[in-house]
Amino acid sequence: MKAVVVGAGIAGLVAARQLGLAGWDVEVLEKSDVPRGDGYMMDFFGPGVAASERIGLYPRLAAVAYHVEAAEYVDLQGHPTSSLDYDQFARLAGGKVLSLLRPDMERAALAALEDVPSGRVRVRYGAPVSQAWGDEDGVRVGVDDSPDGTLAADALIGADGIHSEVRAQLFGPEEEYLRPLGMRASAFIVTEPDLNARFRNRFVLTDSIDRVAALYSLRSEEEVAAFMVYRDATGATGYLPSGSPRERLRREFAGLGHAVDRLLELCPEHPYDDAVAQIVMPCWQRGRTVLVGDACGAVSLLAGQGGSLAIAGAALLGDILGPVASPEGIGPALAEFERRWRPVVEEAQAAGRRAASSFLPANRTQRLLRRWIIRATHLPGIDRLVARQIVGRIAK
Ligand SMILES: Cc1cc2nc3c(=O)[nH]c(=O)nc-3n(C[C@H](O)[C@H](O)[C@H](O)COP(=O)(O)OP(=O)(O)OC[C@H]3O[C@@H](n4cnc5c(N)ncnc54)[C@H](O)[C@@H]3O)c2cc1C
Repeated sequence: MKAVVVGAGIAGLVAARQLGLAGWDVEVLEKSDVPRGDGYMMDFFGPGVAASERIGLYPRLAAVAYHVEAAEYVDLQGHPTSSLDYDQFARLAGGKVLSLLRPDMERAALAALEDVPSGRVRVRYGAPVSQAWGDEDGVRVGVDDSPDGTLAADALIGADGIHSEVRAQLFGPEEEYLRPLGMRASAFIVTEPDLNARFRNRFVLTDSIDRVAALYSLRSEEEVAAFMVYRDATGATGYLPSGSPRERLRREFAGLGHAVDRLLELCPEHPYDDAVAQIVMPCWQRGRTVLVGDACGAVSLLAGQGGSLAIAGAALLGDILGPVASPEGIGPALAEFERRWRPVVEEAQAAGRRAASSFLPANRTQRLLRRWIIRATHLPGIDRLVARQIVGRIAK
């Protein structure tokens, strides 16, 4: 059996590995020329933890995880206003929490392909898919670097992220499914040894209204990962027409203190920059095509579980599709995958929407309330309520 996976992000690589281990031939097509280095520090908790333990990926993730002691909100002078202890957060999140840089997660998933017998999974970088077809005889994708321009397979897995081309081709245009949450997010990494030394082992976030800039020191001892979220009612995705993302960030984040000014000075012209949004679809599979990860169920950074769900969803897809040995079995397997996985994604999406109201306070009162909520995590009883607000019900 042969599968084409579109997208070598976390979901695509894990799905490809699991199918390869089950004996499928897998071709992964990735539009980027190399594994992408952009991204931010992610909290890895929830269903992805158990799934990665089960499929043997967890040790690779733990090996590149950062040790975070606390998430600390600071005022303009850099003095803490409230702080969430990470051991406490791990308890609220139901157990283990790893702090991982997105590109490190992706690299770990890529390295784990070496567990698959040689030649069974092929990853082609610089191979953007621009067309996709599917019917009862099989699936085909149009890929620019293929000799005859198309590639055929028994099953097609669209793991090409929130702006999925496979989804657009086979399920309809993005506007039908994308739900903006009224904010934009940017992430980038800068080389700044002084900031690195100052902020080691803790997430530092500005305790600001309508915007938040966060930073974390990387283990290189020179680099700092920056992450910025601000209100944006347009809901526009991709790059906005008004100036480069860097110019916009410099405008939006002026006046938040020395550390943020320095990050903005060093910010690349085109950092990761996109609307904070979810993907909500009535159906994730059709015939022998299925979507996985952000492509069908993006939960947004507000749910804090994008990477975790990408791994757990892809692992489950591998469990269900892997044993299928005939083309007729593919459709029912994909429907079964959706039936089992959809409730978990919907729960995380609901948590993401709940978090939208408190993530960026709109005024001083809301900011005070957030400080109170963070302090309340130390009170027995309240902590479960806060956990539900922050991470939703922890799915098994
Ligand atoms: C560079 C980058 C930076 C990110 N930074 C953030 C962030 O700061 N905040 C946040 O909330 N989320 C971010 N994300 C999304 C986050 O990583 C995902 O929520 C999570 O990891 C789920 O992953 P996924 O594999 O489903 O999708 P993604 O991680 O988006 O992976 C999709 C992959 O498909 C590839 N692809 C897309 N279209 C095509 C095509 N037509 N043909 C072939 N390949 C294609 C993409 O290049 C990408 O490698 C980022 C994603 C990327 C790729």
